[in-house]
Amino acid sequence: MKNTLIAATMTAAALGGAPANAQGIQVFPSGSSPSVIADPKNFSGQVVVDLLTPPSVETPASSGLVTFAPHARTAWHSHPAGQMLIVTAGKGWVQREGQARQEITSGDVVWIPAGIKHWHGPTDTNGMSHVAITYIQNGKNADWMELVTDQEYQAR
Ligand code: MN
Repeated sequence: MKNTLIAATMTAAALGGAPANAQGIQVFPSGSSPSVIADPKNFSGQVVVDLLTPPSVETPASSGLVTFAPHARTAWHSHPAGQMLIVTAGKGWVQREGQARQEITSGDVVWIPAGIKHWHGPTDTNGMSHVAITYIQNGKNADWMELVTDQEYQAR
C-alpha cells in the first residue's frame, strides 16, 4: 500500500505532475468568513463563531475563533477525534463530566481527547475567546448532547 503510493507519487513527479501533497502555503485572511451566531441547540447564551480554516483532505480539522459573553457555554458534547482549545482572551471554565471544572485563561492550551464528554465556556463574570482546532473523523467533528443547566454551570 505504502509502496504503491510512493510509486504513484514518483510517477506523477517523473511525468511533471506535482505530488498530491505539494500544496503551497495558504494565507486565510482575517475576516474572510462572516461571523455567525452559534446554534442555540448546541450553545447557551451569546456566542459568536468565526471560521478560521476549513478542513481539507490533507488536514482533517477545522479551526474557529469562538467568542463567549459571560454565562454563555457550549452544550455537553464530545469530539470523535479530539479538540485543542487555545484561549486567546478572558477567563473560562472547562469541565469533563464527573470531574471538577478547571479554570482557563488567556494563553492556556487545552487538549480534549476523543470521546470525552465535556463543556467549555467563560466564567460567570468574564467573557472568553478561544481558538478551537477540531479534528474530524468520518465527516464529523462533534457529538452534541444536552445543554448545560445553570446548576451544572455554577457547580464547582
Ligand atoms: Mn469541545
